[in-house]
This record gives sequence, C-alpha cells and structure tokens, in this order.
Amino acid sequence: MARWQRRIESVAAGVVAPPRRTRMKIDGQCHCGHVVYQAEIDPDQVSVCHCTDCQTLTGSPFRVTAFAARDIVRLSGGAPTI
Ligand SMILES: [Zn+2]
Repeated sequence: MARWQRRIESVAAGVVAPPRRTRMKIDGQCHCGHVVYQAEIDPDQVSVCHCTDCQTLTGSPFRVTAFAARDIVRLSGGAPTI
C-alpha cells in the first residue's frame, strides 16, 4: 500500500488530523525584476530539496518548491523568455 493510501486511511479512521486547507498568498520576482508573480499556495505542499541538481540550479544549499494551481498564479511585468 502506498504512503498516500495509508495517509487517507489514517485520516478516515481518525488516527491523524486531515490536512489543513490553508492558503497563503505569496509574491516575488525574478532576479532582475522583469517577471513578477503572485499566487496562493498550500503551505503544507511546500518542499525543500538538497540534492546536487537543486544546489547547482539555484547556486544555494537547497531549492524551495511551492505548488500552485495554474489559475491561481498571476504573472505581471515582462513576459518570461523561457
Ligand atoms: Zn533536488
């Protein structure tokens, strides 16, 4: 049984609390400020990865990833070139 299936069964049995349905507003921009974004994310779905690929990609010890539905993300400023 997959971990997500065990989680669903545990929530249904009342063993663990169901996931929060919290939304958090975030905003940011690219390094030069050309592309600006705003979104609402679920803070429980934010992940941090320390693998060497993420370290190389970001030039830092880790990369943070936040998932958001496409219709909740708003881009403003210049259009992305990638
Ligand atoms: Zn990684």
